[in-house]
Amino acid sequence: MLNLNIPTSITKINSDFLQKKSIKVFIKRDDLIHDVISGNKWRKLKYNLIEANLRGHDNILSFGGAYSNHLHALSYACNKMSLKSIGVIRGEKKTNLNSTLSFCQNNNMSLYYVSRSDYRDHKYSKDLMQDLQNTFGDYYIIPEGGCNLLGAKGCSEILEEIDFDFDFVCCAVGTGCTASGLINSMKPHQYLLGFCPFKKVFEQKQNILQFSNLKPSSNWKLIPDTDFGGFGKINVNLSNFIREFNLEYNVKLDLVYMGKLFYYLFHLIKNDFFNKHTRILVLHSGGLQGLSGFNFKY
Ligand SMILES: *Cc1c(COP(=O)(O)O)cnc(C)c1O
Repeated sequence: MLNLNIPTSITKINSDFLQKKSIKVFIKRDDLIHDVISGNKWRKLKYNLIEANLRGHDNILSFGGAYSNHLHALSYACNKMSLKSIGVIRGEKKTNLNSTLSFCQNNNMSLYYVSRSDYRDHKYSKDLMQDLQNTFGDYYIIPEGGCNLLGAKGCSEILEEIDFDFDFVCCAVGTGCTASGLINSMKPHQYLLGFCPFKKVFEQKQNILQFSNLKPSSNWKLIPDTDFGGFGKINVNLSNFIREFNLEYNVKLDLVYMGKLFYYLFHLIKNDFFNKHTRILVLHSGGLQGLSGFNFKY
């Protein structure tokens, strides 16, 4: 079975910079949930795996890119729970599997490739679903990134573990599922900032509206990536920032999600976006497995 460190701990970070601005920053350490399962991925899988079990499925199918933290976590969790898993991968099959996909395969995940254009246009098309059914039989489907109502339900448990008050909650946004769960469990006076590591945030807004029960965006906002040029794009400012952050606060950040979140958050603090004495809670959603994939790619 899985050994999970839940409830996860809180790290309060401190420095001259934060002190001078009179801002308190707390990090909710979902990156420490498990050595292998990356942060928020377990939160999103939990109720989906329970639902699959209730419906009598022992075969779980999901979707993702070749560096997907979600498929990485799914393959490991399913293997430990003696469930079969299928990963539908965006992109052509490569001769050598990258570290994420070879990890998935070693955890007995069946890999099924769909060309990028087919994936974009027909992710859930009838033809694709028929092909998958013919190949794998019956299965329980988890959408890409674990983003559905049950995924959001798992993420709504994060704030239930916190017993002090804060003003802002910050999280990284991929599909927006984690942000939805946080919004659903925030108190009325709290505000969510969702940091997107890409430029276009339309789909994420739609997801959040859908999975947060259409809560109006009066207490949340998405911040797009303006400086780095989009998803997976990095530069030396970002890698320096991440190195210095680790030296100063002893917390590791990944290049795709958490590094950009803190980079932009510190920018906002520097520019006095927040009032003095604001208490900020940042969800550390993990992502360090992607880092090895990233090293492999670049
Ligand atoms: C997957 C992932 C996210 C995105 O979460 P969503 O619920 O899809 O918005 C954020 N941070 C990290 C580290 C992730 O791996």
